[in-house]
Amino acid sequence: MSYNFPVTRTTHPKQKPDESALGFAKYFTDHMFVMDYDEGQGWHDGRVVPYEPLQIDPASCVLHYAQMMFEGMKAYRTPDNKIQLFRPDMNVKRMRKTFERMCMPYLPDDLLVEAVSALIKVDADWVPHAQGTSLYIRPFVFGDEVSFSVLPAKHYRFLIILSPTGSYYAANYNGLSTTRIYVQDKYIRAAQGGTGYAKVGGNYGGGMRASQDAMKYNCKDVLWLDAAEHKYVEEIGTSNAFFRINDEVYTASLESGTILPGITRDSVITLLKKWGIKVNEGKLAIDDVIAASKDGSLQEVFASGTAAVISPIGCLNYNGEDFTIADGNVGPVAQKLYDTLYGIQTGKVEDDMGWTVPIA
Ligand SMILES: *Cc1c(COP(=O)(O)O)cnc(C)c1O
Repeated sequence: MSYNFPVTRTTHPKQKPDESALGFAKYFTDHMFVMDYDEGQGWHDGRVVPYEPLQIDPASCVLHYAQMMFEGMKAYRTPDNKIQLFRPDMNVKRMRKTFERMCMPYLPDDLLVEAVSALIKVDADWVPHAQGTSLYIRPFVFGDEVSFSVLPAKHYRFLIILSPTGSYYAANYNGLSTTRIYVQDKYIRAAQGGTGYAKVGGNYGGGMRASQDAMKYNCKDVLWLDAAEHKYVEEIGTSNAFFRINDEVYTASLESGTILPGITRDSVITLLKKWGIKVNEGKLAIDDVIAASKDGSLQEVFASGTAAVISPIGCLNYNGEDFTIADGNVGPVAQKLYDTLYGIQTGKVEDDMGWTVPIA
């Protein structure tokens, strides 16, 4: 299907921020994409309009019961000045699962890329050029019905907003540096049967207590353990977690439904296997990680996600004790993954996986 979204251009374009100090999601572009859903009519009236605050009824159900979902993806500028996306088909797949879990109406499969392309064509000048930068894309859908009944809404809105972005981790525009992570064994993120595998706001509101506590220990974020036993490693903050022990890599499996199926995670696993590194998707006990740190077999810990690509971890704080990983520096596998992934995303490394999709 081919869409033809009408465009209303802003009469007050904003001044573009300095590309060397973008930070993460501090600035938003001049336009946004908006589309409505009404029961009986389906999705309709997709349009590109000036970026502006929304009108929302105080009794709108999303403000009370959080029937919403979001996605996170990026557009990258290539050396020949084209703009491309990274594996958007995976976002579409993940959205479908989230819609199903949240009783929300599916968007047609081709709509996401069409809408993102239409919006980025209007805001193309906002896709930054500097090394380490990209345009973060935030699509989201929420139930917008005036109702206090705990029932799926009959009206929804789909929006896409864009933010030129530097590195997720401050002071890290030119490459990687390591961070400290707090092993969280009191609070949990998601239990089996819950919404852990869906990208929904409720998962994050409930996680803030834990990340605030992590900061008390001078840690950037938390390593979540499983909800049932507080024993097995799951995710790091809003990224997937990888552990390299004795030249093999371990990561939580998607089977339990408690971790978010990251697109970067899938790409990391694919690349590691291609490079001949054994990847174990399954249960890894935090006690085994700590033991490996003590006997010197823990070589690397890193997190993966669209925002930061790869975030190497230099130290885990567990039960009040610091466990430094290797020498606290960026490990070789994390560095190679970052260089390869960000290289493919920005068109500087050949994409022999067919992962990139040009849009402008
Ligand atoms: C978005 C997200 C990830 C990473 O997913 P990517 O598709 O790689 O960006 C991991 N964990 C959580 C909780 C997330 O929200």
